[in-house]
Amino acid sequence: MTQSTTPPADIPEKIRHYINGEFVDSIDGDEFDVLNPVTNEPYIKAASGKKADIEAAVASAKKAFDEGPWPKMLPRERARILNNIADIVESRKDELAAMESFDSGLPITQAKGQAARAAENFRFFADLIVAQVDDAFKVPGRQANYVNRKPIGVAGLITPWNTPFMLESWKLGPAIATGNTVVLKPAEFTPLSASLWPGIFEEAGLPTGVFNMVNGFGEEGFAGDSLVKHPDVPLISFTGESSTGQTIFANAAPWLKGLSMELGGKSPAVVFADADLDAAVNATIFGVFSLNGERCTAGSRILVEESIYDEFVERYAAQAKRVKVGLPSDPATEVAALVHPEHYEKVMSYVEIGKSEARLVAGGGRPEGFETGNFVQPTVFADVKPDARIFQEEIFGPVVAITPFSSDEEALELANNTKYGLAAYIWTSDLKRAHNFSQAVESGMVWLNSNNVRDLRTPFGGVKASGLGHEGGYRSIDFYTEQQSVHINL
Ligand code: NAD
Repeated sequence: MTQSTTPPADIPEKIRHYINGEFVDSIDGDEFDVLNPVTNEPYIKAASGKKADIEAAVASAKKAFDEGPWPKMLPRERARILNNIADIVESRKDELAAMESFDSGLPITQAKGQAARAAENFRFFADLIVAQVDDAFKVPGRQANYVNRKPIGVAGLITPWNTPFMLESWKLGPAIATGNTVVLKPAEFTPLSASLWPGIFEEAGLPTGVFNMVNGFGEEGFAGDSLVKHPDVPLISFTGESSTGQTIFANAAPWLKGLSMELGGKSPAVVFADADLDAAVNATIFGVFSLNGERCTAGSRILVEESIYDEFVERYAAQAKRVKVGLPSDPATEVAALVHPEHYEKVMSYVEIGKSEARLVAGGGRPEGFETGNFVQPTVFADVKPDARIFQEEIFGPVVAITPFSSDEEALELANNTKYGLAAYIWTSDLKRAHNFSQAVESGMVWLNSNNVRDLRTPFGGVKASGLGHEGGYRSIDFYTEQQSVHINL
């Protein structure tokens, strides 16, 4: 166990806020313990931000916005700095992945992939702002109209603990590319990798005050809540649970803030009898067990056509039993430790609920040889009824529900039968069915005969309780900019 109980070599002595170019403690001196998910022992302290810390961070970001130079720099100049950031992230990817894996419990091999994506997010938005085209309309001889696109101000970025560094980059990239300044509030369970941002940004040449970070909790009076309620923060980009999204929506209402919300999911993977079964089994195993099942787009409900149901369940359960549970630091590990004991308790409580609701065909407890820490066996329930809690509620762990269907209509009804609508996965060799089903399913994103690899130009977001608005490609640019119409008579 030593490999995973010893923190990576280069971690800071303590996790601090970063305000106006300086690492600082909380004004009231408050701190909290961050736990190692393999032992649940505290391994570092982090500053716990409150209203006063957010006020200092927002003041720094506002000054950097009002006095510049960042918002007024040419897109090409900002893009150069974004590309520097991408290069630095890439050059530090092993260090970063080691920190991320240690702090969050993600398998190291998967954490490396996340570091590469984080770099790509900066490169992508660097390209996009340079190539940005804005609308112009002419009424011949009468009027010319054009769009004056401009940054909005201080963006508040609030992120969750699953793939923390990558998800932070997904917001930081477009927010700063478009000329805004930011205050980031990373997730309290996993603040370690975010402590690398200040060094990366300084080295890349980002002007002081453009990036600020306050660590700590989300609840009333703490950092997250204070950021949402700060009058000088006109934009909030939030990723997290749907219920937190509802609270933030209400708290932002008095200021009519711009909101982008990427929320929870309970995404269906629908496997028709004419699917390539090998590919469907492999992909649906990956879809729910990669990233420890702590993935917003996890295909956590598998709907299988009756004629192949028994065979599918048997093969799926056998393969789930072969998924390698291990230490986060072991390159061969496929499922490691869940992020935190609170989350472990939540996931385990669903495993127990599942046992009373459905047929357990794989897993169902703690893996052998892992007596401490947040380890859960890859767990598969079959014959899950649509009203079961494990069918309806987001578990966010390595637990999957399998349900049979007998017609396309029933498959669609089951797929749509939750409050969520983030992703859907469809496995069939019938092209027409694939497209008709995709267009009818209530989800922001659909993958046909494929895994959830995406093109960064496409919209990312959910419908129903899974989100509000879209980011991705120029939709992120739209969210982080004002589009002023300018009209002149000719
Ligand atoms: P969470 O909602 O508990 O916390 C997310 C962040 O919000 C944290 O930084 C937290 O401190 C902060 N927060 C909590 N209460 C707040 C408040 N009242 N005001 C302001 N900030 C507050 O979510 P989590 O448990 O960290 O993350 C898991 C959830 O995130 C899952 O539901 C998952 O599906 C979702 N998620 C969605 C996407 C997506 O793109 N749709 C991506 C990743 C994760």
